[in-house]
Formats: sequence, structure tokens, C-alpha cells
Amino acid sequence: MDSFDLNNLVRPNILTMQPYSSARDEFMEDGQEMIFLDANESPYENGVNRYPDPQQRDLKALIATQKDIDPSQILLGNGSDEILDLIFRAFCNPGKDNVISLPPTYGMYNVLSTTNDIENREVVLDTFFQPIVQGILNVADEHTKLIFFCSPNNPTGNLIDPKRIEEVLNHFSGLVVIDEAYIDFAQSASWITRLAEFPNLIVTQTLSKAYGLAGIRLGVCFASWEIIGILNKIKPPYNVNKLTQIKAHDHLKKMETIKKGIRDIISSRDNLIKVLLEVTFVTEVVPTDANFVLVRVDNAYKRYQELLSEGIVVRNRSSQPRCENTLRFTVGTSAECKELVRILKKIN
Ligand SMILES: *Cc1c(COP(=O)(O)O)cnc(C)c1O
Repeated sequence: MDSFDLNNLVRPNILTMQPYSSARDEFMEDGQEMIFLDANESPYENGVNRYPDPQQRDLKALIATQKDIDPSQILLGNGSDEILDLIFRAFCNPGKDNVISLPPTYGMYNVLSTTNDIENREVVLDTFFQPIVQGILNVADEHTKLIFFCSPNNPTGNLIDPKRIEEVLNHFSGLVVIDEAYIDFAQSASWITRLAEFPNLIVTQTLSKAYGLAGIRLGVCFASWEIIGILNKIKPPYNVNKLTQIKAHDHLKKMETIKKGIRDIISSRDNLIKVLLEVTFVTEVVPTDANFVLVRVDNAYKRYQELLSEGIVVRNRSSQPRCENTLRFTVGTSAECKELVRILKKIN
């Protein structure tokens, strides 16, 4: 395979396009007394009558400090789902290119590949839910633009072996996307610490899970400034609204509270795992580094319905490969976990 060349990976129409320059790209409110008559906004001040900063400078500066990375290596999106879609649209030619994903995994990779008319080549994880590197490299060809790793993986919860990801990074000349939506619950370091080593690495994170802000929709993408520059060209100018920028900024300043919440979830999770093993119809609890547990039961459809009728909503993941008869439990408060276990023992 050829060596990595970013310009060869970008869709030609996007490589040559001029990005839309918005009014707020040229001038931002920054305390200076200016009269803004450039963006057809309402002049009546209400806190959100002006368009938001298209480059989210304040928020990126804070994230850059916290993650010890340059702001030019960050792109923010309306959830990480928007970021994943931008990656597809920047690099994959519809009807021609393909991507590789590794089921059982997050369903959006397949939804986005279908939406963008990109073939999704699926290489099922092994029985320990780890990737089969040779299998992945075997199905990759010159039209394979992206390989998706989800670590910790959803719905299984396990971290993907870093040695295997590294092997793929070293032998694949397209882009490797590592979805770290659950990394804050894991003991291992984020792949963002290794961006300098791998020009073909993209890492996505989100404020929707460990940071407790699913409702504001904020996803974060980390990559080389060259990759970020390409994604910036095609992102909608005001993709992160002002309320989201303000809320995220305020929230991220309370890092001690966030970390305490994560520690509490991890300890609830570890308790939950222990007691789940006492439930007679539970046959397997998959080791997890996330805020959920995948549990194999005797009859997932039956148990799902029984939980529902007791007022507990979980996710049935049985239709995914290697996930026959599995339910995924999100770790709630310790009271919610207790209630889950009480009901599980009751419906025994
Ligand atoms: C929840 C989840 C996301 C979605 O993140 P948003 O930022 O809320 O869009 C992305 N990837 C995985 C694996 C997830 O489980």
C-alpha cells in the first residue's frame, strides 16, 4: 500500500473548494464598540440575537488547555455524530469509496456510510471483542478511506487492544478514526496523546456521556491541523450554537465535580457487575471500561419485556454479531442500580 498522503485521501471537489466565509468569520463581537450591520441579525439584545462564534474560540481554548493540545488540532461539532458525518463527507467519494467498521459496534458508522452511499466493509471482532488485524488489512483496498475503532467499544464496553490499533495505524494508508465516547470511564490514556506519531489518526470524543451534557450536543474531534483544516472547510459555519458554547464552557470549568461524578459511576458499575453475577439467568457479564455493562442472559427478548413491565428500560443488543441474548445496562445512580438488581432478582 502507498504511504500516507492526505491530499490523496480528500475528495477532489473538497480539496479545491473555497469555504463559505460567514459574516462572523470576518468580524466577531469582542468588547469593541462596533455597530454590526453585516449579518442581517436582529439588533435587539437578548443574549442570543447575534450568530455564535463559528470557530468557538473561547471553548476551544479551554479544551486545548485541559487536553494539552493546540487549538488548531480541535474541531467541535453538533455532537460527535456530526463530526463523524463530516469525516465521511470530506474523504469518501459516494458510490466509489469504502470504509471498514468492526461489529458489534456503534450503529452510526453504518447509518452514515449508507447515508453517504459508501460501502461499509464489516470485519467482526473476535470472541474477546478484539479486532482481527489481518482480516482488516485483507479487506482494505485502494478505495478504503476510513477504519473505525470504538474504544471503549459500544455495546461491549471493552477497550480495544492498543497494540492492534497501532498495527493498523502503521499498515493502513487511509485514516484511522478512534471513537472515544467512553474514554473518561477507562483507566487507559486517550489516543490524543499519540497524535504527533500518527498523521492518519483522528480521535473523537463527546460531552454527552461522562461530562453529562448529552442535551447540548457537543462533540470534539482531535487530529493534525491539516485534517482539522479540511473538516473546517466543510462544516456548517454555525454548527455549534451559542447556548451550547456557553454551557460547555461553564461546565468544563467544574472539572473536579465532573471527575467525582465519573468516579461514582465507576464504583456503582463495579458493584453492579458483582451482583449481576448472582442473578440466576445471567450467563455472562462482559468486562467493561465504560458506563454500561453488556450482559448475556437466558432469553433477552423475554427479560427485556419483563424489565419493561417493571418500569426499567434497557437496550436489547441481541441482533448484533456475537451478541445473541444480550442486554446493555447503562450504569445509573447507585439507587437506580439497586432497583435494577432488585427487579432482576424478582423476575428470576
Ligand atoms: C453515544 C455515542 C456517540 C454519540 O455522541 P454524541 O456526541 O452524543 O453525538 C458517539 N460514539 C459512540 C460510540 C457513542 O456511544
